[in-house]
Amino acid sequence: MNQRANEKNTAPCPVFRKCGGCQYIDMPYREQLKRKQKQICRLLSSFAEPEPIIGMDDPYHYRNKVSAAFARDKKGNIISGVYEEGSHRVVPVDRCLLEDQRADAVIATIRGLLSSFKIPVYDEDRETGLLRHVLVRTGHATGEIMVVPVTASPVFPSRRNFVRALTERHPEITTIVQNINGRHTSMVLGPKMQVMYGRGYIEDILCGKRFRISPGSFYQVNPVQTEVLYRTAVGYAGLTGKERVLDAYCGTGTIGLIASDSAGEVIGVELNPGAVKDAAINAENNHVKNIRFYRKDAGEFMRGLAARRERVDVVFMDPPRSGSDRAFLEALCTLRPARVVYISCNPETLARDLRYVTRKGYRVERVQTVDMFPGTGHVECVVLMSRVEK
Ligand code: SAH
Repeated sequence: MNQRANEKNTAPCPVFRKCGGCQYIDMPYREQLKRKQKQICRLLSSFAEPEPIIGMDDPYHYRNKVSAAFARDKKGNIISGVYEEGSHRVVPVDRCLLEDQRADAVIATIRGLLSSFKIPVYDEDRETGLLRHVLVRTGHATGEIMVVPVTASPVFPSRRNFVRALTERHPEITTIVQNINGRHTSMVLGPKMQVMYGRGYIEDILCGKRFRISPGSFYQVNPVQTEVLYRTAVGYAGLTGKERVLDAYCGTGTIGLIASDSAGEVIGVELNPGAVKDAAINAENNHVKNIRFYRKDAGEFMRGLAARRERVDVVFMDPPRSGSDRAFLEALCTLRPARVVYISCNPETLARDLRYVTRKGYRVERVQTVDMFPGTGHVECVVLMSRVEK
């Protein structure tokens, strides 16, 4: 696909060293891609020769999810931005090279509105004030925008007027959800949500299917490259319309739903209850009838399938950065699907898991890196494994 690496080297962002969000932004894009390819080759060449990395034509402003912490600076001015790496000091960020520019504009507007609405920002040390963070998520294909003010308590002074002022300035906002996080934690979102405006979620379209994005559920942050990633993964699965497919760590069901057209039956498993709910709704909204989702730990679920000797032909697995666990991998090798497509956002844990599986009857056939996170050191990879017939 879009192999043309962008040669442009912009001046790095003024806060890039303090923020630590994009370790590679001062490097020409072609050089970034080379580094990532080298890293993948170092970790995975012993399994199979990796294909050339797929980069972006325009590697800027791709992030559809933007989160800003709010605080006051020493002079008492309201600032928003990111925590300085390894600390809880807020580094002010007005514009970011990676983030969706509409999201940055919404955050700037909120910064300006707070004083007139007498909404105090939260002070972590004193545990006083209200607004802790603002999360903005955008639907790339639909243009929908969700704003999530995260507050320390449920009160929200002049709630209605605030909503009116914000949506007047940004008519592109389709929903606003207050999230309440009263805990002393580094997690941005707390457990309670309160819809302030609109439907409480946004939608986006990927590979021709519509997906619901709720404030807390996982959704890939680079929508352009996600299509490349999913097409690669589904292509690797080599589906003919008959297979029984498992989508493990399925989130809101994206991969399983995209694969469902070319599979006999799909089952998805995911731990996060909100994501599973969204997955079921996504199946209904896309009129997909051959898919079912289960809320369970993926390892436990796999163990159950293996104990019942169920047939599974193809497994997609897309675990978090920590990789998969022994329970999952053991059960996988007992189930013995013909093909396993492993999607990974951490090549170190990927290599570890491949070492295990390749000792238990699997061979790595293909490795494809897709640059999902330009400007950063993060690497995303798709691996196809097939069962070694004995
Ligand atoms: N495949 C999805 C989500 C991938 S992110 C997509 O592309 O959008 C990884 C997902 O694994 C998250 O949704 C997370 O909630 C889920 N998860 C983490 N640990 C899990 C476990 N032990 N069992 C099942 N799901 C888990």
